Amino acid sequence: MAKVLIIGAGGVGRVVAHKCAQVPSVFNEIVLASRTKSKCDAIAASLPRPIVTEQVDADDVQQMVALIKKHKPNLVLNVALPYQDLPIMDACLETGVDYLDTANYEPKDVAKFEYKWQWAYQDRYKQKGIMALLGSGFDPGVTNVFCAYAQKHFYDEIHTIDIVDCNAGEHGHPFATNFNPEINIREITQKGKYWENGQWIEIAPMSIKRDIDYPEVGPKASYLLYHEELESLVKNIKGLRRIRFWMTFGEQYITHLRVLQNVGMTRIDPVEFKGQQIIPLEFLKAVLPDPGSLGVTYKGKTSIGVIFNGVKGGLQKDLMIYNVCDHAECFKETGAQAVSYTTGVPAMIGAKQMLTGKWRGKGVFNMEQFDPDPFMDDLNKYGLPWHVLHGKTIEN
Ligand code: NDP
Repeated sequence: MAKVLIIGAGGVGRVVAHKCAQVPSVFNEIVLASRTKSKCDAIAASLPRPIVTEQVDADDVQQMVALIKKHKPNLVLNVALPYQDLPIMDACLETGVDYLDTANYEPKDVAKFEYKWQWAYQDRYKQKGIMALLGSGFDPGVTNVFCAYAQKHFYDEIHTIDIVDCNAGEHGHPFATNFNPEINIREITQKGKYWENGQWIEIAPMSIKRDIDYPEVGPKASYLLYHEELESLVKNIKGLRRIRFWMTFGEQYITHLRVLQNVGMTRIDPVEFKGQQIIPLEFLKAVLPDPGSLGVTYKGKTSIGVIFNGVKGGLQKDLMIYNVCDHAECFKETGAQAVSYTTGVPAMIGAKQMLTGKWRGKGVFNMEQFDPDPFMDDLNKYGLPWHVLHGKTIEN
Protein backbone atom coordinates (compact mmCIF):
# COMPACT_ATOMS: atom_id res chain seq x y z
CA MET A 1 0.00 0.00 0.00
CA ALA A 2 1.59 3.26 -1.09
CA LYS A 3 0.98 6.90 -1.86
CA VAL A 4 2.04 8.25 -5.25
CA LEU A 5 2.45 11.91 -6.19
CA ILE A 6 1.91 12.37 -9.95
CA ILE A 7 3.26 15.61 -11.47
CA GLY A 8 1.74 16.73 -14.81
CA ALA A 9 -1.90 16.68 -15.95
CA GLY A 10 -1.46 16.30 -19.71
CA GLY A 11 -2.39 13.31 -21.89
CA VAL A 12 0.14 11.04 -20.16
CA GLY A 13 -0.80 12.27 -16.65
CA ARG A 14 -4.43 11.38 -17.40
CA VAL A 15 -3.51 7.80 -18.31
CA VAL A 16 -1.18 7.40 -15.31
CA ALA A 17 -3.93 8.61 -12.96
CA HIS A 18 -6.44 6.17 -14.52
CA LYS A 19 -4.06 3.20 -14.41
CA CYS A 20 -2.92 3.87 -10.81
CA ALA A 21 -6.56 4.21 -9.79
CA GLN A 22 -7.20 0.75 -11.28
CA VAL A 23 -4.59 -0.83 -8.96
CA PRO A 24 -5.67 0.21 -5.44
CA SER A 25 -3.76 -2.68 -3.85
CA VAL A 26 -0.52 -0.84 -4.73
CA PHE A 27 -1.55 2.81 -5.21
CA ASN A 28 -3.98 3.22 -2.34
CA GLU A 29 -3.53 7.01 -2.26
CA ILE A 30 -3.03 9.24 -5.31
CA VAL A 31 -2.15 12.94 -5.45
CA LEU A 32 -2.16 14.63 -8.87
CA ALA A 33 -0.44 18.03 -9.11
CA SER A 34 0.26 20.24 -12.10
CA ARG A 35 0.75 23.86 -13.16
CA THR A 36 -2.98 24.23 -13.92
CA LYS A 37 -5.08 22.73 -11.12
CA SER A 38 -8.30 22.74 -13.18
CA LYS A 39 -6.73 20.12 -15.49
CA CYS A 40 -6.04 17.89 -12.45
CA ASP A 41 -9.62 18.36 -11.29
CA ALA A 42 -11.00 17.41 -14.72
CA ILE A 43 -8.94 14.18 -14.66
CA ALA A 44 -9.98 13.48 -11.04
CA ALA A 45 -13.65 13.79 -12.04
CA SER A 46 -13.19 11.04 -14.65
CA LEU A 47 -11.68 8.49 -12.22
CA PRO A 48 -13.46 5.60 -10.52
CA ARG A 49 -12.25 6.65 -7.04
CA PRO A 50 -11.36 9.93 -5.30
CA ILE A 51 -7.85 11.41 -5.50
CA VAL A 52 -6.32 14.62 -4.16
CA THR A 53 -5.38 17.43 -6.60
CA GLU A 54 -2.89 20.27 -6.13
CA GLN A 55 -1.34 23.20 -8.00
CA VAL A 56 2.44 23.30 -8.31
CA ASP A 57 5.10 24.96 -10.43
CA ALA A 58 7.56 22.08 -10.65
CA ASP A 59 10.31 24.36 -11.95
CA ASP A 60 10.46 25.72 -8.41
CA VAL A 61 12.31 23.20 -6.22
CA GLN A 62 11.02 24.72 -2.97
CA GLN A 63 7.37 24.47 -4.13
CA MET A 64 8.00 20.81 -4.96
CA VAL A 65 9.70 20.24 -1.57
CA ALA A 66 6.72 21.81 0.23
CA LEU A 67 4.27 19.64 -1.74
CA ILE A 68 6.24 16.47 -0.98
CA LYS A 69 6.47 17.38 2.72
CA LYS A 70 2.71 18.05 2.83
CA HIS A 71 1.69 14.72 1.28
CA LYS A 72 4.64 12.44 2.19
CA PRO A 73 4.38 10.20 -0.90
CA ASN A 74 6.42 6.99 -1.32
CA LEU A 75 7.17 7.94 -4.92
CA VAL A 76 7.09 11.02 -7.16
CA LEU A 77 5.99 10.08 -10.69
CA ASN A 78 7.00 12.86 -13.07
CA VAL A 79 4.97 13.17 -16.28
CA ALA A 80 5.31 16.94 -16.64
CA LEU A 81 7.80 18.06 -19.30
CA PRO A 82 11.47 17.07 -19.58
CA TYR A 83 12.46 20.60 -18.44
CA GLN A 84 11.12 19.77 -14.96
CA ASP A 85 13.17 16.58 -14.48
CA LEU A 86 16.05 18.20 -12.60
CA PRO A 87 14.06 20.43 -10.22
CA ILE A 88 11.84 17.43 -9.35
CA MET A 89 14.90 15.19 -8.86
CA ASP A 90 16.37 17.90 -6.58
CA ALA A 91 13.18 18.02 -4.52
CA CYS A 92 13.18 14.20 -4.19
CA LEU A 93 16.79 14.32 -3.06
CA GLU A 94 16.05 16.96 -0.44
CA THR A 95 13.06 15.03 0.94
CA GLY A 96 14.44 11.47 0.50
CA VAL A 97 11.68 10.21 -1.82
CA ASP A 98 11.99 7.88 -4.87
CA TYR A 99 11.62 9.35 -8.38
CA LEU A 100 10.37 8.10 -11.79
CA ASP A 101 10.01 9.80 -15.19
CA THR A 102 9.33 8.99 -18.86
CA ALA A 103 11.67 11.36 -20.73
CA ASN A 104 15.22 12.58 -20.19
CA TYR A 105 16.00 16.11 -19.03
CA GLU A 106 16.36 18.74 -21.73
CA PRO A 107 17.63 22.26 -21.29
CA LYS A 108 15.10 24.82 -22.61
CA ASP A 109 17.50 26.70 -24.87
CA VAL A 110 19.08 23.78 -26.75
CA ALA A 111 17.50 20.52 -27.96
CA LYS A 112 19.76 17.88 -26.39
CA PHE A 113 18.73 14.34 -25.61
CA GLU A 114 21.31 13.10 -23.14
CA TYR A 115 21.23 11.33 -19.82
CA LYS A 116 24.36 13.08 -18.53
CA TRP A 117 22.48 15.57 -16.35
CA GLN A 118 20.41 12.86 -14.67
CA TRP A 119 23.17 10.25 -14.44
CA ALA A 120 25.11 12.95 -12.54
CA TYR A 121 22.71 12.35 -9.60
CA GLN A 122 23.95 8.75 -9.21
CA ASP A 123 26.21 9.29 -6.15
CA ARG A 124 23.84 11.70 -4.39
CA TYR A 125 20.85 9.34 -4.80
CA LYS A 126 22.96 6.42 -3.62
CA GLN A 127 24.18 8.28 -0.54
CA LYS A 128 20.64 9.35 0.29
CA GLY A 129 19.48 5.72 -0.12
CA ILE A 130 16.81 6.56 -2.73
CA MET A 131 16.11 5.36 -6.25
CA ALA A 132 15.41 7.11 -9.56
CA LEU A 133 13.99 5.15 -12.51
CA LEU A 134 14.54 6.99 -15.80
CA GLY A 135 12.46 6.69 -18.97
CA SER A 136 9.55 4.45 -17.91
CA GLY A 137 7.34 5.20 -20.93
CA PHE A 138 7.12 3.16 -24.16
CA ASP A 139 10.18 4.42 -25.98
CA PRO A 140 12.18 4.89 -23.84
CA GLY A 141 10.75 2.38 -21.42
CA VAL A 142 9.06 -0.72 -22.81
CA THR A 143 11.59 -0.82 -25.66
CA ASN A 144 14.44 -1.01 -23.10
CA VAL A 145 12.62 -3.81 -21.26
CA PHE A 146 12.08 -5.69 -24.57
CA CYS A 147 15.88 -5.53 -25.01
CA ALA A 148 16.53 -6.85 -21.51
CA TYR A 149 13.96 -9.64 -22.11
CA ALA A 150 15.54 -10.64 -25.44
CA GLN A 151 18.96 -10.65 -23.78
CA LYS A 152 17.70 -12.82 -20.90
CA HIS A 153 15.53 -15.33 -22.80
CA PHE A 154 16.53 -15.45 -26.47
CA TYR A 155 20.19 -14.57 -27.01
CA ASP A 156 23.73 -15.35 -25.91
CA GLU A 157 24.74 -12.16 -27.67
CA ILE A 158 22.64 -9.46 -29.37
CA HIS A 159 24.44 -7.94 -32.36
CA THR A 160 21.93 -5.48 -33.81
CA ILE A 161 18.87 -3.70 -32.43
CA ASP A 162 16.35 -1.69 -34.46
CA ILE A 163 13.62 0.06 -32.48
CA VAL A 164 10.69 0.64 -34.81
CA ASP A 165 7.87 3.00 -33.87
CA CYS A 166 4.77 3.28 -36.04
CA ASN A 167 1.68 5.36 -35.42
CA ALA A 168 -0.77 4.38 -38.14
CA GLY A 169 -3.59 6.37 -36.57
CA GLU A 170 -5.65 9.16 -38.17
CA HIS A 171 -6.86 12.05 -36.00
CA GLY A 172 -8.46 14.08 -38.80
CA HIS A 173 -6.41 17.28 -38.27
CA PRO A 174 -4.15 18.50 -41.14
CA PHE A 175 -1.23 18.75 -38.65
CA ALA A 176 -0.95 17.83 -34.97
CA THR A 177 1.62 16.14 -32.74
CA ASN A 178 0.78 13.14 -30.60
CA PHE A 179 2.46 14.42 -27.48
CA ASN A 180 3.65 17.84 -26.36
CA PRO A 181 4.32 19.66 -29.69
CA GLU A 182 7.35 21.52 -28.37
CA ILE A 183 9.11 18.36 -27.21
CA ASN A 184 8.01 16.33 -30.25
CA ILE A 185 9.20 18.88 -32.83
CA ARG A 186 12.52 19.47 -31.04
CA GLU A 187 13.09 15.69 -31.20
CA ILE A 188 12.33 15.38 -34.92
CA THR A 189 14.12 18.45 -36.23
CA GLN A 190 17.48 17.63 -34.60
CA LYS A 191 20.14 15.65 -36.48
CA GLY A 192 19.63 11.87 -36.71
CA LYS A 193 22.20 9.60 -35.07
CA TYR A 194 22.84 5.87 -34.69
CA TRP A 195 25.60 3.76 -33.16
CA GLU A 196 27.73 1.26 -35.06
CA ASN A 197 30.98 -0.52 -34.14
CA GLY A 198 31.61 1.65 -31.10
CA GLN A 199 30.93 4.99 -32.80
CA TRP A 200 28.04 7.44 -33.10
CA ILE A 201 27.23 8.29 -36.73
CA GLU A 202 25.42 11.58 -37.28
CA ILE A 203 23.14 12.22 -40.28
CA ALA A 204 21.09 15.17 -41.56
CA PRO A 205 17.55 15.23 -40.07
CA MET A 206 15.20 12.68 -41.72
CA SER A 207 17.81 11.80 -44.39
CA ILE A 208 17.65 7.98 -44.03
CA LYS A 209 14.33 6.37 -44.93
CA ARG A 210 13.17 2.72 -45.17
CA ASP A 211 9.85 1.01 -45.74
CA ILE A 212 9.36 -1.15 -42.65
CA ASP A 213 6.64 -3.80 -42.44
CA TYR A 214 4.88 -3.32 -39.07
CA PRO A 215 2.80 -6.11 -37.47
CA GLU A 216 -0.97 -5.59 -37.91
CA VAL A 217 -0.31 -2.36 -39.85
CA GLY A 218 1.81 -3.20 -42.92
CA PRO A 219 4.65 -1.35 -44.66
CA LYS A 220 5.16 2.30 -43.70
CA ALA A 221 7.80 4.90 -44.58
CA SER A 222 10.09 5.16 -41.55
CA TYR A 223 12.89 7.63 -40.80
CA LEU A 224 16.04 7.14 -38.79
CA LEU A 225 16.03 9.44 -35.74
CA TYR A 226 18.17 9.74 -32.64
CA HIS A 227 16.26 8.61 -29.57
CA GLU A 228 17.37 8.77 -25.97
CA GLU A 229 17.20 5.05 -25.12
CA LEU A 230 20.05 4.38 -27.57
CA GLU A 231 22.47 6.04 -25.11
CA SER A 232 21.74 3.70 -22.19
CA LEU A 233 21.27 0.55 -24.30
CA VAL A 234 24.71 0.98 -25.85
CA LYS A 235 26.12 0.88 -22.31
CA ASN A 236 23.98 -1.95 -20.96
CA ILE A 237 23.57 -4.50 -23.80
CA LYS A 238 26.77 -6.51 -24.12
CA GLY A 239 28.24 -7.44 -27.51
CA LEU A 240 26.14 -4.91 -29.41
CA ARG A 241 27.43 -3.93 -32.87
CA ARG A 242 24.72 -1.55 -34.07
CA ILE A 243 21.60 0.14 -32.72
CA ARG A 244 19.15 2.37 -34.62
CA PHE A 245 15.75 3.98 -34.02
CA TRP A 246 13.04 4.43 -36.67
CA MET A 247 9.76 6.33 -36.64
CA THR A 248 6.98 6.57 -39.23
CA PHE A 249 5.81 9.91 -40.62
CA GLY A 250 3.21 10.48 -43.33
CA GLU A 251 3.86 12.75 -46.33
CA GLN A 252 1.38 15.32 -45.02
CA TYR A 253 3.11 15.55 -41.64
CA ILE A 254 6.53 15.95 -43.24
CA THR A 255 5.34 18.64 -45.67
CA HIS A 256 3.82 20.69 -42.84
CA LEU A 257 6.95 20.26 -40.72
CA ARG A 258 9.21 21.32 -43.60
CA VAL A 259 7.19 24.49 -44.18
CA LEU A 260 7.15 25.33 -40.46
CA GLN A 261 10.92 24.85 -40.34
CA ASN A 262 11.50 26.91 -43.49
CA VAL A 263 9.52 29.86 -42.15
CA GLY A 264 11.27 29.73 -38.77
CA MET A 265 8.33 28.54 -36.66
CA THR A 266 10.30 25.67 -35.09
CA ARG A 267 13.07 27.94 -33.73
CA ILE A 268 13.74 27.68 -30.00
CA ASP A 269 15.68 30.96 -29.66
CA PRO A 270 13.75 34.09 -28.63
CA VAL A 271 12.48 36.56 -31.24
CA GLU A 272 11.52 40.20 -30.51
CA PHE A 273 7.82 40.72 -31.32
CA LYS A 274 5.88 43.91 -30.41
CA GLY A 275 8.25 44.66 -27.56
CA GLN A 276 8.10 41.10 -26.22
CA GLN A 277 10.48 38.16 -26.46
CA ILE A 278 8.70 35.12 -27.87
CA ILE A 279 9.99 31.67 -28.79
CA PRO A 280 8.43 30.64 -32.12
CA LEU A 281 8.10 26.95 -31.16
CA GLU A 282 6.30 27.88 -27.90
CA PHE A 283 3.90 30.07 -29.90
CA LEU A 284 3.36 27.26 -32.41
CA LYS A 285 2.39 24.95 -29.52
CA ALA A 286 -0.26 27.46 -28.48
CA VAL A 287 -1.97 27.33 -31.89
CA LEU A 288 -1.68 23.59 -32.62
CA PRO A 289 -4.34 21.11 -31.41
CA ASP A 290 -3.80 19.99 -27.81
CA PRO A 291 -2.51 16.38 -28.05
CA GLY A 292 -4.85 15.54 -25.18
CA SER A 293 -7.83 16.46 -27.35
CA LEU A 294 -6.93 14.22 -30.31
CA GLY A 295 -8.40 11.07 -28.78
CA VAL A 296 -12.00 12.04 -29.55
CA THR A 297 -11.59 11.40 -33.29
CA TYR A 298 -8.48 9.17 -33.34
CA LYS A 299 -8.83 5.88 -35.26
CA GLY A 300 -6.26 3.22 -36.10
CA LYS A 301 -3.33 1.59 -34.34
CA THR A 302 0.19 2.07 -33.03
CA SER A 303 2.63 -0.78 -33.68
CA ILE A 304 5.90 -0.40 -31.78
CA GLY A 305 8.61 -2.97 -31.25
CA VAL A 306 12.23 -4.00 -31.35
CA ILE A 307 13.87 -6.13 -34.06
CA PHE A 308 16.91 -8.13 -32.94
CA ASN A 309 19.68 -10.06 -34.62
CA GLY A 310 22.24 -12.08 -32.68
CA VAL A 311 23.36 -15.58 -31.77
CA LYS A 312 22.01 -18.34 -29.54
CA GLY A 313 23.90 -21.61 -29.14
CA GLY A 314 26.15 -20.68 -32.07
CA LEU A 315 23.20 -20.10 -34.45
CA GLN A 316 22.06 -16.79 -35.97
CA LYS A 317 18.68 -15.70 -34.66
CA ASP A 318 16.30 -12.94 -35.82
CA LEU A 319 13.17 -11.88 -33.99
CA MET A 320 10.89 -9.02 -33.07
CA ILE A 321 9.05 -8.21 -29.83
CA TYR A 322 6.18 -5.77 -30.28
CA ASN A 323 2.90 -4.33 -29.04
CA VAL A 324 -0.06 -3.09 -31.05
CA CYS A 325 -2.44 -0.59 -29.48
CA ASP A 326 -5.75 0.81 -30.74
CA HIS A 327 -6.42 4.56 -30.37
CA ALA A 328 -10.19 4.26 -30.00
CA GLU A 329 -9.92 1.49 -27.37
CA CYS A 330 -7.49 3.60 -25.32
CA PHE A 331 -9.83 6.55 -25.52
CA LYS A 332 -12.77 4.44 -24.38
CA GLU A 333 -10.82 3.29 -21.31
CA THR A 334 -9.03 6.50 -20.24
CA GLY A 335 -10.13 9.43 -22.42
CA ALA A 336 -6.66 9.57 -24.04
CA GLN A 337 -5.23 8.40 -27.39
CA ALA A 338 -2.75 5.53 -27.81
CA VAL A 339 0.45 7.59 -27.69
CA SER A 340 -0.46 8.89 -24.22
CA TYR A 341 -1.72 5.42 -23.27
CA THR A 342 1.43 3.57 -24.34
CA THR A 343 3.45 6.05 -22.23
CA GLY A 344 1.20 6.20 -19.16
CA VAL A 345 0.69 2.45 -18.70
CA PRO A 346 4.46 1.67 -18.45
CA ALA A 347 4.89 4.63 -16.08
CA MET A 348 2.36 3.02 -13.73
CA ILE A 349 3.99 -0.41 -14.19
CA GLY A 350 7.49 0.98 -13.47
CA ALA A 351 6.14 2.65 -10.33
CA LYS A 352 4.47 -0.63 -9.32
CA GLN A 353 7.79 -2.53 -9.62
CA MET A 354 9.47 0.04 -7.36
CA LEU A 355 6.71 0.17 -4.77
CA THR A 356 6.33 -3.61 -4.51
CA GLY A 357 10.11 -4.07 -4.18
CA LYS A 358 10.51 -6.06 -7.43
CA TRP A 359 12.81 -3.36 -8.80
CA ARG A 360 14.92 -1.89 -6.03
CA GLY A 361 18.27 -0.15 -5.87
CA LYS A 362 19.99 2.93 -4.56
CA GLY A 363 20.97 5.42 -7.24
CA VAL A 364 19.84 6.29 -10.77
CA PHE A 365 18.73 3.48 -13.11
CA ASN A 366 17.60 2.87 -16.67
CA MET A 367 14.92 0.29 -17.35
CA GLU A 368 17.08 -2.45 -18.88
CA GLN A 369 19.13 -2.72 -15.67
CA PHE A 370 16.36 -4.66 -13.90
CA ASP A 371 14.82 -8.12 -14.31
CA PRO A 372 12.40 -7.68 -17.26
CA ASP A 373 10.07 -10.56 -16.31
CA PRO A 374 7.73 -8.91 -13.76
CA PHE A 375 7.41 -5.82 -15.96
CA MET A 376 6.64 -7.95 -19.06
CA ASP A 377 3.98 -9.86 -17.07
CA ASP A 378 2.37 -6.58 -16.04
CA LEU A 379 2.32 -5.29 -19.64
CA ASN A 380 0.08 -8.24 -20.49
CA LYS A 381 -2.05 -7.62 -17.43
CA TYR A 382 -2.57 -3.85 -17.67
CA GLY A 383 -3.36 -3.20 -21.33
CA LEU A 384 -0.19 -3.50 -23.43
CA PRO A 385 0.06 -7.19 -24.45
CA TRP A 386 3.22 -8.06 -26.36
CA HIS A 387 4.10 -10.71 -28.94
CA VAL A 388 7.21 -12.38 -30.36
CA LEU A 389 7.65 -12.75 -34.11
CA HIS A 390 10.42 -15.22 -34.96
CA GLY A 391 12.46 -14.72 -38.14
CA LYS A 392 11.67 -10.99 -38.47
CA THR A 393 14.52 -8.98 -40.02
CA ILE A 394 15.12 -5.43 -41.20
CA GLU A 395 16.99 -4.21 -44.27
CA ASN A 396 20.56 -3.07 -43.45
P1 NDP B 1 1.45 17.53 -22.11
O1 NDP B 1 2.04 18.77 -22.64
O2 NDP B 1 0.11 17.07 -22.57
O3 NDP B 1 1.37 17.60 -20.51
C1 NDP B 1 2.40 18.10 -19.72
C2 NDP B 1 1.80 18.52 -18.39
O4 NDP B 1 2.86 19.02 -17.55
C3 NDP B 1 0.77 19.67 -18.53
O5 NDP B 1 -0.34 19.38 -17.73
C4 NDP B 1 1.53 20.88 -18.01
O6 NDP B 1 0.77 21.85 -17.39
C5 NDP B 1 2.43 20.24 -16.98
N1 NDP B 1 3.56 21.12 -16.69
C6 NDP B 1 4.36 21.75 -17.59
N2 NDP B 1 5.24 22.53 -16.94
C7 NDP B 1 4.98 22.39 -15.63
C8 NDP B 1 5.54 22.95 -14.44
N3 NDP B 1 6.55 23.82 -14.50
N4 NDP B 1 5.02 22.58 -13.26
C9 NDP B 1 3.99 21.71 -13.18
N5 NDP B 1 3.42 21.14 -14.26
C10 NDP B 1 3.91 21.49 -15.47
O7 NDP B 1 2.53 16.37 -22.34
P2 NDP B 1 2.27 14.79 -22.42
O8 NDP B 1 1.33 14.38 -21.35
O9 NDP B 1 2.00 14.43 -23.81
O10 NDP B 1 3.74 14.24 -22.05
C11 NDP B 1 4.19 14.17 -20.72
C12 NDP B 1 5.62 13.65 -20.67
O11 NDP B 1 5.69 12.36 -21.26
C13 NDP B 1 6.63 14.52 -21.44
O12 NDP B 1 7.81 14.63 -20.67
C14 NDP B 1 6.91 13.71 -22.69
O13 NDP B 1 8.19 13.96 -23.21
C15 NDP B 1 6.80 12.30 -22.14
N6 NDP B 1 6.54 11.29 -23.17
C16 NDP B 1 7.27 10.13 -23.14
C17 NDP B 1 7.06 9.15 -24.09
C18 NDP B 1 7.78 7.83 -23.99
O14 NDP B 1 7.39 6.88 -24.69
N7 NDP B 1 8.78 7.66 -23.16
C19 NDP B 1 6.11 9.33 -25.19
C20 NDP B 1 5.30 10.52 -25.07
C21 NDP B 1 5.54 11.48 -24.10
P3 NDP B 1 -0.21 22.87 -18.21
O15 NDP B 1 -1.39 22.03 -18.48
O16 NDP B 1 -0.46 23.99 -17.29
O17 NDP B 1 0.54 23.26 -19.45
